[in-house]
Amino acid sequence: MTFIRTIKGTQDILPGQSHRWQALETTIRNIMDRYGYKEIRTPVFERTELFARGIGEETDIVSKEMYSWTDQGGENLTLKPELTAPVVRSFIQHNLGGQSPINKLYYIDALFRRERPQKGRYRQFHQFGIEAFGSEHPEIDAEVIALAMALFSNIGLTGLTLKLNSIGSPECRRNYRNAIRDFLTPHFDELSETSRNRFEKNPLRILDTKIPHEIEILNDGPNVSDSWTEEDKTHFNEVCALLDAMGIQYELALRLVRGLDYYTRTTFEITSTALGAQDAICGGGRYDGLVETLGGKPTPGIGFAAGMERILLALGEESSSSSTNQVYIVGLGDAVRPTVLELAENLRRNNVATEFDTLRRSMKAQMREANKAGVKYAILIGDQELASGQAEVKDLSTGDQQKIALDALVAHINSLPF
Ligand code: AMP
Repeated sequence: MTFIRTIKGTQDILPGQSHRWQALETTIRNIMDRYGYKEIRTPVFERTELFARGIGEETDIVSKEMYSWTDQGGENLTLKPELTAPVVRSFIQHNLGGQSPINKLYYIDALFRRERPQKGRYRQFHQFGIEAFGSEHPEIDAEVIALAMALFSNIGLTGLTLKLNSIGSPECRRNYRNAIRDFLTPHFDELSETSRNRFEKNPLRILDTKIPHEIEILNDGPNVSDSWTEEDKTHFNEVCALLDAMGIQYELALRLVRGLDYYTRTTFEITSTALGAQDAICGGGRYDGLVETLGGKPTPGIGFAAGMERILLALGEESSSSSTNQVYIVGLGDAVRPTVLELAENLRRNNVATEFDTLRRSMKAQMREANKAGVKYAILIGDQELASGQAEVKDLSTGDQQKIALDALVAHINSLPF
C-alpha cells in the first residue's frame, strides 16, 4: 500500500513537541488574563466574501493564498487565512459593542494560507492575537504593544525589535499613495512586474518589496510622515510618549505599511534576531474603518497577530522534559497484574501521575523504562510481595528502598516529596 503523507506546508505536532506548545499557550492565557483580554473562538471556515471585503481583494492573501471552494449548496467558503475579519464579524453579529463600550478579545488558532512553504512559513500555521474594540485613543495602542512585548519577554524571547509607524488616516493614505506614485513614475521601467501591477491598484504595497534595487530606489522616496494630518501626528506622538513612559523601546519604521488594506494610523511589527529570512514574529495595527466596512457601526479597533511556529523556532529546542509521570509500577508475574492495575487506578484517582508496563517485559526492562520516563519512584511488586501484602517503594534518585503495606501505598506515595 502506498503511504499517505501530510500535505506540503502542514506539520504534525508530535508528543515530544506538544509540551512546548502547551507551555506557550499557558503563558499566553496567563498574560491575557493579566491585561484583561477574554478569549473568542470562531469557526474554521467562513464565507469567502468576508475575507475579500475585510482584508482587501488586492492583497496577496485574498488574491492568491486562500483555500476556497464552493460547497454542495453553491456557497463560496474559505478556510480562515487570518483572524481579524472573523473576530470583527463575530463582534458585529453578537452586538458586543452594544453590550460594552470596550471589548478586549484574544484568540489562539490555526490558519491556512497557500504560501510557498519554507522554514518559518507554512500552509497551516498558528497564531495568537488580540483585537481591542471601542477606543480611538493612543492609550489602547500603547497597551496592545505593551502586552505583546510583555508576553514575548515572559516566554524568554530575546533579540526583539519593535518597529513602529503610523500609516495615518484615510486622507493621509490617499495623499501618501499619490506621493509614492509621483515619486515612482520616473522609475516605472525599472520596477518588477509585481510592483508595476501594484502601482495602479495599491502603490503602498510596493513598499513591501524584498527586491534590493527597488528598496534602493525607495530609499529616496517620500515618508508617510510627510503626509500625516495634524491629528495623525498628535496620535503618533502620544503613542510614542506612552511607550516611553512604560520603558518600551521602539524603532521608527516610516516605511512599514504592512500587507493588509485595513490598517489606519498605528502599525507595528516585532522581529527577532533568532530567526532567518522570515524574521517577523508579530504584526499589528489600528483598523478604525474595518468594523464599518464589514457592516457594523463605526467602531475603532486595534490588534496584533503573532506566529506561534516562529516563536517556538526563535526560542530554540530547550531540554526541559515533557514527562509528568511521578511513579512507575514494576510488576513481575501473571498473578500481580490485577493488583498493578488496581494500584495504578487508585494512584491516578488520587492525582498521582502513574505509569505501568503493558508489554509484559522483564523486571530489568521495566526498571529501564522507569528511569527513561524520569519518574522519581518505582513501586516493585512480585509474587513474594503480593503474598506478604507489601510492595517495595524505590527512590530512583537515591536508590533507597522501603517496604510498604499495599493498602497504605496510596497514602504513602502522596506523603512523599516529588
Ligand atoms: P500576518 O497575519 O501576515 O500579519 O502575520 C502575523 C504573524 O504570523 C507573522 O509575523 C508571522 O509570525 C506569522 N505568519 C504569517 N504567515 C505565516 C506562515 N505562512 N507560516 C508561519 N507563520 C506565519
